[in-house]
This record gives sequence, C-alpha cells and structure tokens, in this order.
Amino acid sequence: MARVLITGGAGFLGSHLTELMLLRGHEVVCMDNFITGDPANIAHLFGRPGFSFIKHDVTNYIFVDGPLDYILHFASPASPIDYLQLPIQTLKVGSLGTHKVLGLAKAKGSVVLIASTSEVYGDPLIHPQREDYWGNVNPVGPRGVYDEAKRFAEAITMAYHRFHGVQTRIVRIFNTYGPRMRLNDGRALPAFMGQALRGEDLTVFGDGTQTRSFCYVSDLCEGIYRLMLSNEVMPVNIGNPTEITIREFAERVVRMVGCKAKIVFRPLPEDDPKVRQPDITRARAILGWEPQVTLEEGLAWTLEDFRRRIAGGA
Ligand code: NAD
Ligand code: UDP
Repeated sequence: MARVLITGGAGFLGSHLTELMLLRGHEVVCMDNFITGDPANIAHLFGRPGFSFIKHDVTNYIFVDGPLDYILHFASPASPIDYLQLPIQTLKVGSLGTHKVLGLAKAKGSVVLIASTSEVYGDPLIHPQREDYWGNVNPVGPRGVYDEAKRFAEAITMAYHRFHGVQTRIVRIFNTYGPRMRLNDGRALPAFMGQALRGEDLTVFGDGTQTRSFCYVSDLCEGIYRLMLSNEVMPVNIGNPTEITIREFAERVVRMVGCKAKIVFRPLPEDDPKVRQPDITRARAILGWEPQVTLEEGLAWTLEDFRRRIAGGA
C-alpha cells in the first residue's frame, strides 16, 4: 500500500480524494492552509488509521517526514470568485507551490500528479476540447491569474519530467460538482442550489446560453486514481461530456428542488468561456475510464448534502 501526500486536501476535491485513497488502503498525508478549504471537510478523518494532517502553505518549502510514493497537488483557489479575490495567492500556489511540490517529488522519488483545469483552454475555439488544443486564454484578463498559473504549472511539470526524469501526471479537470462544495463559493451549482433552497431568484449570468459539462465528484476521483496509477505523462482530460446550457442547468435545479424560484439575468463576467465540453477519448483509451453518474443522480445526491447543511445553519 502506498503513502500519498495530497495538497489542498481540506478542499472540495482534495477531501474526496483523501477518502478514496484511505478506502483503497493507502496512507494519506493531507496538507492545507485552509485559505479556501474547510476544516469540517476532513474533521471526520482525524483518528482514522493512515490519516495525518499538516497545516502548511505549499508556496513555502515543504517538509514531509518519511517516504512518499505519490503526491497529488490540488492546492489552489478554484472558483472564479475565489481566484478573483485571491489573485496573488492563486498565481503563487500554481507557480511557486507547484515548484515546491515537484522539488519534493524529485527528492522523494514520488510520482506526482498535478491538478490542471479545462481553463487552460480559455474561451475555446475548438469544441469539444481535446488535449492537443493549445487554448485561447487572455493572460491579462481577470481569469488570467488562474489560467496562466495552471498553464505555468503544466509547463514546469513537463520540465521536471524531461530534465529531472520525475514521474509526472497532469489531469485537466472539467467542471466538477458534488457534496461539500462551499455554499458561498460562487460557482454555478452552489449558487443555484443555495438560491433555490432559500427561495431566492437564481442568478444566471449573461443570457445563459453559455455551456458547461458537469462531472460528479466520484467519477472524477476514479479517473484521477486511474491516471495516478498509469504511466501517462501527457495531459488527460477528466470530465463528463454531457453538455448543458447554464440556463437549462438552472431550470434543472429549480425543478429538482421543487420550488417556485424565478431565473434572473445578471451581467456576464469578463472572459466567461462560451462553451466547454471535454473530449475524453484519451481517458477512455488509456485509463478505461468514463463517467458513470448521470446529472439526475449526481444532482439528487448533492441536493441532499446542501439541504442538510442549510438546515444545520450553514
Ligand atoms: P477548493 O478551494 O475547495 O480546494 C482547494 C484547497 O487548496 C483548499 O482547501 C485550500 O485551502 C487549499 N490551498 C489553496 N492554496 C493553498 C496553499 N498555498 N497551501 C496549502 N493549501 C492551499 O477547490 P477544489 O474545487 O477542491 O479544487 C481543487 C483543485 O482542483 C484546484 O487545484 C483546482 O484548480 C482544481 N480544479 C477543480 C475544478 C472543479 O470543478 N472543482 C475544476 C478544474 C480544476
Ligand atoms: N454562473 C451563473 N450564475 C452564477 C454563477 C455562475 O450564471 O450565480 C455561470 C458562469 O457565468 C459560467 C457558468 O455558470 O458561465 C459556470 O460557472 P462556474 O463559476 O461554476 O465555473 P466556470 O466554468 O466559469 O469556471
């Protein structure tokens, strides 16, 4: 069984990955500075065999005692409002943080997997997005702090692989949702579910014709797990190819919650991508992976979690 370091382990995806690793019998060292994460996401794991936690900002030198077979680098603000409020921290964790993680992997002989994003494709001119598309990113726009940090992270990861021979993996994650998303993180799903459950109007940005493709968190974690165990060095898209307009997505949430909330339209944020859909041909071929959870099922499970948290005063 392996010993795995997960940076950003107290975040939405990091906490689900931590649970998956523990379930599969691995030892997990979880590292986080809680800048956008929540101690509640991992509170239930303290005392569980194989779990340990280090509070640390990974933009600074990382020290971990003992061997590390794998490092999963997930630390980074991830929602548009988070990275607009934390632009310098976002750039630092994607650049300096990734550098520190790669240095640690080199020192320990670990396989390192970097969480990249569909945002490296920017506002894409190719649809659906394949890994060999280089993207259409505005480096000086408000989203540039996130997109360029992730593009730098990919570049330095490839450099450590080519120059130092570090075993690296890059996952390009498309919009993922599920339990534990922060209610106020501003992403479409928590915004819409929170609004619908509180009986408020749902705020659709622009005219709602922009598209996204939402992947349930357990599917994403399985894809990442398979990529971690594979030998694939070049980036792999992991996401659910089922594409939906944001307006239709908001309508689905209203129907599912069973409320009478109205949809209201608000200005579209600058550089908001018009379309997004992963081409997962490579994930299918290399990892034998494809999503299993339908939007219907995933939304129902997520809604249960949101109802519980809102009822509990969150
Ligand atoms: P999140 O904000 O819930 O989790 C990120 C975690 O990283 C938080 O716990 C935060 O406190 C921690 N963190 C941030 N900076 C840190 C630092 N300097 N040192 C230590 N910890 C730090 O976000 P998430 O949705 O779980 O995203 C996790 C990763 O996946 C990110 O790298 C993100 O870019 C990537 N990603 C997520 C999505 C998605 O749809 N959720 C899509 C594409 C990529
Ligand atoms: N969005 C919206 N209303 C909200 C939050 C988001 O219409 O309250 C839109 C946003 O403009 C984008 C899509 O939903 O077009 C997905 O946004 P999210 O922040 O979830 O992630 P993104 O894919 O933009 O990174």
